[in-house]
Amino acid sequence: MDEELRAAARDHLVRYGGERFDNLFSHARGAKVWDDEGREILDFTSGQMCATIGHNHPAILEALHRAGEQALHLFSGMVPEAAAQLALRLADDWMPAPLTRSLLINTGSESNEAALRMAKLYTGGYEVIAVGGSWHGVTGAASSVSFASDRKGYGPGVPGVFPIPEPNSYRPWIPGGSDAESALAALELGLRMFDMQSAGAPAAIIVEPVISAGGVLVPPPEYMQALRKAADERGMLLIFDEAQTAFGRIGARTGAEHFGVTPDIMTVSKTLGGGLPLAATITSDAVEARAHERGFTYYTSHVSDPLPAAVGLAVLKTLEEERLIERARDTGAYLRQQLEALQQRYEEIGDVRGLGLLLGVELVKDRSSREAHHELGALTTRRCFELGLSMNIRRRPERGAVWRIAPPLTVNHDEIDRGVAILDQALGESLD
Ligand code: PMP
Repeated sequence: MDEELRAAARDHLVRYGGERFDNLFSHARGAKVWDDEGREILDFTSGQMCATIGHNHPAILEALHRAGEQALHLFSGMVPEAAAQLALRLADDWMPAPLTRSLLINTGSESNEAALRMAKLYTGGYEVIAVGGSWHGVTGAASSVSFASDRKGYGPGVPGVFPIPEPNSYRPWIPGGSDAESALAALELGLRMFDMQSAGAPAAIIVEPVISAGGVLVPPPEYMQALRKAADERGMLLIFDEAQTAFGRIGARTGAEHFGVTPDIMTVSKTLGGGLPLAATITSDAVEARAHERGFTYYTSHVSDPLPAAVGLAVLKTLEEERLIERARDTGAYLRQQLEALQQRYEEIGDVRGLGLLLGVELVKDRSSREAHHELGALTTRRCFELGLSMNIRRRPERGAVWRIAPPLTVNHDEIDRGVAILDQALGESLD
């Protein structure tokens, strides 16, 4: 442990929100990270939801090395080979038709900025419907359509954003009927409010196929189909933000594939770069052509950069070679079983939900009131870390305290058993 360095982190880094540990971290491999005391920590958050093929996968290291020997960065008018290769792989093997055009950029926030800009140019409108509990990023337009993040200090958001209530099977906005019925009733109400207020300039509906930061909320398929219909009826483009759901985590290539609903624009980020900043805004020829005609630009310093593109290619290849989509399904079912077994033993676990290896565990004071147990969430998450397990708790006032459990797709059963045993111990101790 280097006290001086720890002090440097404390004194010289801007505090950017979220929880921050005192320890510094030096190494990461697979589903494990090590801190400056040499302590091994099991990573059930995949870093920031990015390390789906495991930390420091040899395929990524090899791609980094090779890209380093070729070219790290070029003038944006010079398309690197790796960018053309990645765009081709995405179009041919990963995206649903007709999404065959990729803008390769860096972060999820940026990918949504670009998607919204594209939709506004394509439609000539500016109004955007966004779903409560969503998180689309921290930059201007992306944060304006986010409701699970903190916008303090941003001033006014971009105009024309209409929030609609999120589908939430555990805490439905409009209770009664099946999950699908209550989610559709809430959507209907949201759309009616939009129609009443619209200035006649609709542009887009943006949604995460699993509303992750908002509490790992999985919409019923009917909800996604209804969003598709709502967009078509109003001449809006449907945008899926698949920062977390694309490339295997939910046991499918994409959320679009899982739900059988194709958006007009898909944004992907975290899971494509495997830990490096890489994102893409992906659309059809038709949308790209009209946006281009109307002056679409996204001329950033790092558009189509070769190094992250090479890493993206390595990530896609590894997902296929190691059959990680199937593995996410199988290991996800195993983890879910273990979590449901914990639920049998702890009254405070109100709900276990999710898809593949994107799981949510909702903590409540008692199962009948469903009052969120924020204190237990905070206490147990801290205790887990002390015991060697990194966990993420999503806290929304009135809308739940939810662990998001999302280890790398390469995680094995032993690691899952160990993680669940730590959870069990931390829960037991915190409730004593
Ligand atoms: N969309 C979703 C669904 C996300 O979860 C996030 C990050 N939490 C973002 C967008 C923003 O991505 P980034 O942090 O890379 O800008």
